[in-house]
Amino acid sequence: MKPQEFRDEVSAVGKDVTEALKAANVPDAQAKSYSALVQTLVGNMASDAGMSPREIWEQYGIRNIFSEGKDVTRDASGQVQAVSSEAKSALVSPESLHEPWAKQGNATVNVPDMFGPIFSGEDLDFKPLAVLAKLRKEKTGVVPNAFQFRLDQWLDPNGKPLPSNGAVGLVYGRPGDPKREFSGGYGLAHIDAKHPGNAEKIVSFLQNPALRAFSRGDKITLWNGKDKVGLSVFWDGNPDRGQWVITSFKDEEAPTGKELKRAPSAVDKIPSPSRTVDGDSGSSSPREALNSNDKSTPESVKEQNPNELSKGEYFPTARSVLLWANADRSTFLHETGHWFLGARVGLALQLKNLETLTDSQKHLVSAVEDAVKWLGYDSLEAFAGASIEERRPAEERFARTFEQYLKDGRAPIAGLQSLFRRFANWFKAIYGFMTAVPGSQMSDDVRQMFDRLFVTEEQQTEARLRYDLYQALNREDFSEEEAYQAYLALMGNN
Ligand SMILES: [Zn+2]
Repeated sequence: MKPQEFRDEVSAVGKDVTEALKAANVPDAQAKSYSALVQTLVGNMASDAGMSPREIWEQYGIRNIFSEGKDVTRDASGQVQAVSSEAKSALVSPESLHEPWAKQGNATVNVPDMFGPIFSGEDLDFKPLAVLAKLRKEKTGVVPNAFQFRLDQWLDPNGKPLPSNGAVGLVYGRPGDPKREFSGGYGLAHIDAKHPGNAEKIVSFLQNPALRAFSRGDKITLWNGKDKVGLSVFWDGNPDRGQWVITSFKDEEAPTGKELKRAPSAVDKIPSPSRTVDGDSGSSSPREALNSNDKSTPESVKEQNPNELSKGEYFPTARSVLLWANADRSTFLHETGHWFLGARVGLALQLKNLETLTDSQKHLVSAVEDAVKWLGYDSLEAFAGASIEERRPAEERFARTFEQYLKDGRAPIAGLQSLFRRFANWFKAIYGFMTAVPGSQMSDDVRQMFDRLFVTEEQQTEARLRYDLYQALNREDFSEEEAYQAYLALMGNN
């Protein structure tokens, strides 16, 4: 295939994606950035596979990008309802990957999907000791209604009460890296690993009327003079994703960040959990009685219905992305991660049927083999053969780490630098204070694995040559500092 022909086909893919995104109400500039990413991935797959980009796109590309209103709506029970004829024919069995929703306090919140299963019910809600026991037993999952707590006791820096629905959740989370003081961890797993005993203190801690609150980005640190509890208030920048305990530890030093003023009438708005609390576990707040006549929230626990109110979904069988009206700039990138994994696995399986493989084809296959092994599967066949339900945790880990890879902004080759920088800026705005996308699992090895997924075999060889050369020469090899600097610049380092 001639280079010009190849480029034309890649740009046709980009046009296709841009048009579909614009039809789904994605702003122009964003749509173009997303398209550039998809074009890169399709172009690389075609180049390594020795196929034409058009062929790759027809067999493995994203078929539809659906949007709320135009293509789908939600029915009364929150299920996806196809409206447009395209959606009707594509979503015959709408098995999708998406983030679940749950009740938290008196609101419905979009629980980040990497938190795992949602646990709730009368035995757990606002019974923190039962919550700790449950999460430690399951070693995964989340309880949206762990603590009764109102953050609107404080004003944000603009003088408005902080958002609150009367509840703070607890996530099992991850311990973090034991070699690096459990950095990257969050939730109960992190507290138990790094600050054993502190989780039990959270209950009485939150009832202390003299707590002080300090804000830093999306995170609030509460302090009683002896201990701190870190809360995530705007998970990924949104108030509708629930409020969660991220950490808790001993610290007698005042938190960094801006101290928040108390809201003047806080006491009037204190209560309103949606569930009755019988306070027998010694864990409930003394405020619940004030709330017994709150009829605004339904009895049923909506998190049982997983199709409700997610931001974006990916339908692997239909190879379709759905952007709900509340999608943010990370949503399409996350769904692109799901699509890309499926496309790479499918194409690699197809190539494995060939009698002999070129070096480029071997690269394509082995890069994605490494990815599914990292996800806990022995082979591409095992991964492809698993049901969506079985694959869900692995899928989410991949899509989250894909986000993290883009968030880090470190492009594997110079040509992708400006695109990666743009995505990194978006993520900064969305994830705020968090250095790691929750649920992602980045490390040097994983980064190298993603680098290999993002470049062709040819580019990888070039990059390795460049690296080897860089390794081979150092300052002593140059008589002049200037020459050494010029060499570094040439090698693209520093
Ligand atoms: Zn997902």
